This record gives sequence, structure tokens and C-alpha cells, in this order.
Amino acid sequence: MAGLDPKKLEEIKERLLERKRLLWLEVKEQLKNTIGDGYQEMLSTARDEEDQATVSLLAETHLALLGPKRQELEAIEEALIRLENGTYGECESCGRPIEPRRLEVMPETPFCRACMSQKEKLAKAAAR
Ligand SMILES: [Zn+2]
Repeated sequence: MAGLDPKKLEEIKERLLERKRLLWLEVKEQLKNTIGDGYQEMLSTARDEEDQATVSLLAETHLALLGPKRQELEAIEEALIRLENGTYGECESCGRPIEPRRLEVMPETPFCRACMSQKEKLAKAAAR
């Protein structure tokens, strides 16, 4: 587990879950404001994980609407999965440990700093 101590991991998990909860609230709010009345009731009663899956399905149909929030939710979801299966803290690209200070700032990141800046360079080059 890339040398991260269990206490730290627990802390990261808490932060990810809290962030996820806040994002879901924002997403629900956004959907409520932009989708017709039919969905409102469903959204307002979505409280547990299963209901959130329904909301998630709704969100799928409104990708453009949700944009960055959805991406962040997905990144958080993936980070939580990595926490579960013990690969959290390893760079998904090069397999080396991600800098602890980087995880401190961006707990959901799947890449180390070197790989991320490489990706950003590529993205910029592609956008040109
Ligand atoms: Zn890397």
C-alpha cells in the first residue's frame, strides 16, 4: 500500500466520503433546478446508496449538464475503490507511489506528479 499508514488512509477515506456527499448534494440540486417536475420527487427522496444509483442513472442522461462535478465524483469513486483493494497511493500510470503531499491536496488523484504533468502537456499539445 505504497507506505501510507492505516490512520492516514482512514483520514483520506473520510475526506473522500465527505467530498462525495457534498458533490451529490450539489448534483441533486443542479438536477432539481434543471430537470422537469417528474424527477423532483425521486431526487428529493434519494437518501441511501440504492437511490443514489437511480440518481446516478439520471445523471448519465445529463452528462453535459454535470460536467466537471461528474468527473470529480467518478475520480472519488475510483479512489474509494483503490482504498478498498489496497492499491491506493500508487500511480495508475507508472505504478510508483504518489507523493504523500500530493495526496494531501488531491486525495482523489490517480497519478503521481510526473505523470500528471506529462498528461497535462499532452492535453495542451492536443488542444493546440
Ligand atoms: Zn506516475
